[in-house]
Amino acid sequence: MNKKIPVKIYLTEDEMPKSWYNLRADMKQKHEPFLHPGKLVPCTPEDLYPVFCKELVKQELDQENRYIEIPEGIRDFYKMYRPSPLVRAYFLEKLLDTPAEIYYKHEGNNTSGSHKLNSAVAQAYYAKQEGLTSLTTETGAGQWGSALSMACAFYGIDLKVYMVKISSQQKPYRKALMETYGANVIPSPSDTTNVGRKILEENPTTGGSLGCAISEAIEVAVTTDNCRYVLGSVLDHVLLHQSIIGQECKIAMDKYGIKPDIIIGCAGGGSNLGGLIAPFMAGKINGTDDTRIIAVEPSSCPSLTRGKYVYDFGDTGKTTPLMKMYTLGCGFMPSANHAGGLRYHGMSPIISKLYDDGYLEARSVEQTAVFDAAIMFARTEGILPAPESSHAIKVAIDEALECKKTGQKKTILLGMTGTGYFDMTAYIAYNEKTMTDYIPTEADLEQGFASLLDIPQNKQ
Ligand SMILES: *Cc1c(COP(=O)(O)O)cnc(C)c1O
Repeated sequence: MNKKIPVKIYLTEDEMPKSWYNLRADMKQKHEPFLHPGKLVPCTPEDLYPVFCKELVKQELDQENRYIEIPEGIRDFYKMYRPSPLVRAYFLEKLLDTPAEIYYKHEGNNTSGSHKLNSAVAQAYYAKQEGLTSLTTETGAGQWGSALSMACAFYGIDLKVYMVKISSQQKPYRKALMETYGANVIPSPSDTTNVGRKILEENPTTGGSLGCAISEAIEVAVTTDNCRYVLGSVLDHVLLHQSIIGQECKIAMDKYGIKPDIIIGCAGGGSNLGGLIAPFMAGKINGTDDTRIIAVEPSSCPSLTRGKYVYDFGDTGKTTPLMKMYTLGCGFMPSANHAGGLRYHGMSPIISKLYDDGYLEARSVEQTAVFDAAIMFARTEGILPAPESSHAIKVAIDEALECKKTGQKKTILLGMTGTGYFDMTAYIAYNEKTMTDYIPTEADLEQGFASLLDIPQNKQ
């Protein structure tokens, strides 16, 4: 095809996907079911209803329907900031002097600054449909809390965000953004919940953790009328919503006859990666397509590359259903010097299963190298990338340089998940050369693995 490829490929409103794509329908082997943590039997929908919206439980457990229609109310919101552009990184290619062609899908073009809005909108919409009046959630770095604040403001739902205390102090502007959109942001641990009060009693000066914030948010959801809890990554329904990213890419690339040889995404809980690769996976699973897929994670929190594929809790407080996933153990804490995001101990069950079955590769990278790549990208392509996204940028650059060595002209598609405007503390550390790398020792990992459950399902 000889159509000239523009720097930015957009879709028209008519070309926009009207359904999400449910990758599980095409997976020959499904991932193991959630287990009830007390009974160790698969969770029923009834187990999940007290915590999550009904429609989201239905989507979570749906492994059959390949396409799930995006309700018009959600598509209307999507139109305010989608399609996101698919951009050819001509200037980065030129700097690298590579024969490779690099494309990035830019999800940072909304005020919350990341792809998380794609699922936040859907989750708030269904809550509204079901007549719920409030939602609770946790946020660490603040992107998820920001996205959900925007969505709840739009649909008129009250929102309580439990924000890891240390992060609410380090990122006051993230907190201010959420409050501007009307959310009630509570530094966690707090004295508003039993679990929070207990933790404060034991450790009054703690800076909090994501696990603790999750436990507080769930406690409020299950004890408040017309209130549910929502999660911004890891779960299958979140990956489903994020399939909008991959589908837009596929439609845009098909329009110009472009086929990616390598798809690269960063992996925290696995939602953007799962969404980006979804429509490209079917061919790989049935053997008609040999696109390479690379998941990139930080060396300091290496769940895929050094974790175990076992049943584990989703939170540090050990209150969630058990998920079979690659995990460092729910008690794992990344080292304090880690500024680059992607700190979650586990990984989406879908991504974990695909990895275990050999459909994708995983690579871990150190944060100073990640920021080297971020700066190279910012200075050529203009956009200041989020530290999380920069993990994918780093590996895309490595692959492009490999092409330069071998003279191969490969097409690389990379997930640029968001912008880094609220991450200036990390950029300052990099600029002042106080940023360091930490790779956990075997002993560090053993500490995390010690928090894993000793159950029959984990002994094979
Ligand atoms: C949250 C976040 C991620 C990681 O989450 P996933 O669920 O793995 O996608 C990556 N990039 C940005 C910008 C984020 O905000």
